[in-house]
Amino acid sequence: MSKIPLVDLAAAHAEVAEEVEAGFKRVIADTAFVGGAEVAAFEAEYAGFTGVPHVVGVANGTDALELALRAVGVGPGGEVVLPANTFVATAEAVARAGARTVLVDCDPQTYLIDTAAALAAITPATRALAPVHLYGQLAPVEALRAGTDLPIVEDGAQSQGATRHGRQAGTGGIVATSFYPGKNLGAYGDAGAVASADAGLARTVRTLASHGGLAKYMHELIGMNSRLDGLQAVVLRAKLARLARANAARRAAAARYDTLLAGLDVVRPVTLAGNEHVWHLYVVRIPGDGTPARRDEVLGRLNAAGIGAGIHYPYPVHLTPAFAGLGYGRGAFPHAERAATEILSLPIYPQITPAQQERVVTELATALR
Ligand SMILES: *Cc1c(COP(=O)(O)O)cnc(C)c1O
Repeated sequence: MSKIPLVDLAAAHAEVAEEVEAGFKRVIADTAFVGGAEVAAFEAEYAGFTGVPHVVGVANGTDALELALRAVGVGPGGEVVLPANTFVATAEAVARAGARTVLVDCDPQTYLIDTAAALAAITPATRALAPVHLYGQLAPVEALRAGTDLPIVEDGAQSQGATRHGRQAGTGGIVATSFYPGKNLGAYGDAGAVASADAGLARTVRTLASHGGLAKYMHELIGMNSRLDGLQAVVLRAKLARLARANAARRAAAARYDTLLAGLDVVRPVTLAGNEHVWHLYVVRIPGDGTPARRDEVLGRLNAAGIGAGIHYPYPVHLTPAFAGLGYGRGAFPHAERAATEILSLPIYPQITPAQQERVVTELATALR
């Protein structure tokens, strides 16, 4: 039996192979390796796609978060509120900006940040909130905006193209995103971007990302080196032109899983009203006893059958050794902790076929027995 991967980057490459090859030749002929025309063109095209007018290409998503946080004024002595259940990079970026990570729990159905808890976690030291658009759907940022004037730095690494009430992340604010190869819009190496409605914030990000200066040797700020390169921009332009279609294919695949999974003892994902989901991940729950034993057994059986299922993520931020120093213990965020013991990501990518999905569900049904 052939394997079904969690994501199929080879299938994605096949669709853009010729365009990428031609673009790489262009970049090499122009020796436009860092920045350059391809990067500028991608930034403009991504702004057009998202409706967020000012886009700065950077080296990766973690840098994008750090740069966005620093641009809105996050630094030493400050605090940033973010969900405990996220990829660790959200918290890393806060730490790298010199600030303290303040964690809150998630909604048990959608796994998105508990907005009431986030607002309740605000202190005089809070400098920003960092909601995460987890698995491909947007968090209800409007509920945060209704309760605070603090800057909101959205983590859009998993949500390229997703909308809430018809608008994409970053509309009216600032969003950091990642183009790591496996994301919905993926490069062929590390890449990321910050997008903002605010030209001044975007200018600060661009300044910080380029050694603190926009003109050569004019260093206005202590910045860093975090720039998008021409080869990645070629790939991103080719894939951006196909992103809406790829996201629609993911939606069709998610709907197919919803139907196929109907009779099984798994909890299917929930889409928040008002959201158009882009299904970066299709995450089900295998009800357990509070330990990951049953989920891990099911995952092991799936993997043994050649199904590339995974866990996103097995440990909430506060239970990673790296962030143990924050002082939250087990029990601090019950919904995030329980979810971490039960969640399971099924293979999903635009090119997945109905037959592949049927096999995934057949193997899952067997594994659950
Ligand atoms: C991938 C990811 C990041 C980090 O992006 P990199 O490009 O890998 O640095 C940050 N936040 C979330 C939620 C992610 O999924």
